[in-house]
Amino acid sequence: MAEGSIFTKIIKREAPATIVYEDDDVIAFVPNRLQAPVHLLIVPKKEIPTINDVTEEDAAMLGKLFLVAKKLAKEKGIAETGYRLTMNMNEDAGQSVFHLHMHLLGGRKLGPMVT
Ligand code: C5P
Repeated sequence: MAEGSIFTKIIKREAPATIVYEDDDVIAFVPNRLQAPVHLLIVPKKEIPTINDVTEEDAAMLGKLFLVAKKLAKEKGIAETGYRLTMNMNEDAGQSVFHLHMHLLGGRKLGPMVT
């Protein structure tokens, strides 16, 4: 049986992280490598590797990721200046942790999306 991801360890408090939000379904914390002055990961507690694995029953949780992102962007003072939400899926997108997560990035002028 595979062990849970590093994010599951953070959820279970078995690995350290600065947690900025938590409810029954979602947790948000500061990643170990910042890519912008504001960089948070918004993560469902349910272990889902990628968007390819979500089902209808995950619809409310997926919506909640955006609501949490909106709330955190406001709290961090970047709601009006702007921010980016990204989710990397599988190899070509550079996904490194196979536990679904949304990046919230802001606090500086972000470059164009790489295509
Ligand atoms: O989208 P991707 O899978 O590459 O993002 C993984 C994220 O998980 C990165 O932001 C990385 O800094 C973070 N991470 C972490 N703690 C770890 C391993 C990765 O916060 N131990």
